[in-house]
Amino acid sequence: MQTYQIDTLIDTAPCGFLAFNDNGTILLANLTLLELLGYQMNGLQGRKIEVILPIASKIFYQTHFFPLLKLSGKAEEIYFSLRASSGEHIPMLINAVRRFKTGDFINECILIPIQKRIQYEEEILQAKKAAEKAIQAQKQAEKALRQEYEKSVLLMQMNQRICQSLDLAKIFSIASEEIRQFINAERVGIFKFHREGSFNSGEFVSESVAEGFNSVMSIRIEDHCFGEKHARYYQQGKIQVVEDINKAGFQDCHRDLLARFEIKTNLVAPLLKGEDLWGLLCVHQCSNYRVWQEVEIDLIKQIADQLAIAIIQADMIGQLQNELAHRRKIENRLKESNQQLAFSNEELAHATSILKRLVNTDGLTQIANRRCFDDRLEQEWARLYRSRQPLSLLLFDVDYFKRYNDLYGHQMGDECLRQIAQAVQKMVYRSPDLVARYGGEEFVVIVPDTDSQGALTIAQRIHNAIKDLSVPHQGSKVSDLVTVSIGLAVGIPSSEYSPAVLISQADQALYLAKQRGRNQSVLFSLEQSLQE
Ligand code: GH3
Ligand code: MG
Ligand code: MG
Repeated sequence: MQTYQIDTLIDTAPCGFLAFNDNGTILLANLTLLELLGYQMNGLQGRKIEVILPIASKIFYQTHFFPLLKLSGKAEEIYFSLRASSGEHIPMLINAVRRFKTGDFINECILIPIQKRIQYEEEILQAKKAAEKAIQAQKQAEKALRQEYEKSVLLMQMNQRICQSLDLAKIFSIASEEIRQFINAERVGIFKFHREGSFNSGEFVSESVAEGFNSVMSIRIEDHCFGEKHARYYQQGKIQVVEDINKAGFQDCHRDLLARFEIKTNLVAPLLKGEDLWGLLCVHQCSNYRVWQEVEIDLIKQIADQLAIAIIQADMIGQLQNELAHRRKIENRLKESNQQLAFSNEELAHATSILKRLVNTDGLTQIANRRCFDDRLEQEWARLYRSRQPLSLLLFDVDYFKRYNDLYGHQMGDECLRQIAQAVQKMVYRSPDLVARYGGEEFVVIVPDTDSQGALTIAQRIHNAIKDLSVPHQGSKVSDLVTVSIGLAVGIPSSEYSPAVLISQADQALYLAKQRGRNQSVLFSLEQSLQE
């Protein structure tokens, strides 16, 4: 029995504790119970339980409580009174268990005074209420969080869609529809002010309407009550939250307008292009009055801001497109004039080349003329001066040509000159070589990089080519056919030598060829010229 001790925690617990054995001897009582009953421990320990039981409780203990405890091993929420040392009866609620401890059965009871129990119940009730409140708050927080999440998803999707679509009409239609679905409204519309109307007129340019409610699209709305006052309010970025249009303090005419569209409850956010009030994002409830939730108002505000950005972007894109179109127009015009310029440049180049050819070509024979010869001789002279290479000049003249004309006529004479020119032209292969009409029936050939030997070969080729033409010349004293006499001069350009000297030498040689009987070539030499 001595080994059965009480735990200090139980000793000071706010409820009573009592242990007794099967013959009703009290083994232990905790401090709380001793204090409540006004006993010291030694005043109760070892005494019979009947000491603290009033008569009614004693009977109840013997007939009901103890038999029940013995039978089922426990007794729950049993009500009976205990008697304090002062004689006072204290009503109690008792819970008891029967255990086998240290070789004996011990009955342990927890006793709660009814007075305390009421207090506890109050506390429990309050705790329960607080817990319920906490659960409610948690639920609310969860709901808000979910709405916040859904809103952010919606905003994100809208943002994406707004970014994807530059078409304002499409953006408005998506926004109206999504808002209406999300906050379960009956009509969501995008209202646009007419530019000229100083906020007195405008129309809905987009909307989403629940089934069974009227459309407000494309109705020209004149509201002279709206005007500056409301505009100023919205220009500050404020949202109008109206739960009952009849109690919002609207002017009659404004309220009438709202009533015309069956609006009972209204949520309106401004669509601001900077400071300019472009229009309004309107949410209407028509079937009943409605209290707007914070999260709904917040959502409308954020979407209105998004739409405003889209409006500004669309404007900028419109301007950009205009600019682009204008630029393209200018570019096209530039392209056209460039083409024209290129074309006229081409024509000019073509004309220039024709002109050049005309200027340098002999009209009768179609070979190079005297002017071309002069230029070329000068160029080649300068070039060969640098390279110190020889230049040959062949000057040839048709023999007895005066007679030819006289005999065959001037036209035949012309034809004869043409044939000679073309035939000699064909004799000259290298590109720096040039055959030119020198004047009258005299021709000249420039043969650069060629010494006297080469020049004499060419001269012979000319004689042969003209012979091959077989142009009859009955008036010639040297042949039956047209012939030429050739004077050659060869020189290496130097500072004491000039093209004019070379020409003169060729001329002197030609003169000699004529003198020596014509139809032959004479190469100029200083000795010869001194002899003659
Ligand atoms: P020679 O053998 O000494 O050269 O005798 P030639 O008759 O050819 O000499 P001349 O210089 O006296 O005569 C040249 C003639 O060439 C005079 C002119 O009528 C003729 N002639 C010059 N140019 C042309 C031309 O373009 N067409 C024609 N048909 N005849 C021309
Ligand atoms: Mg002549
Ligand atoms: Mg002649």
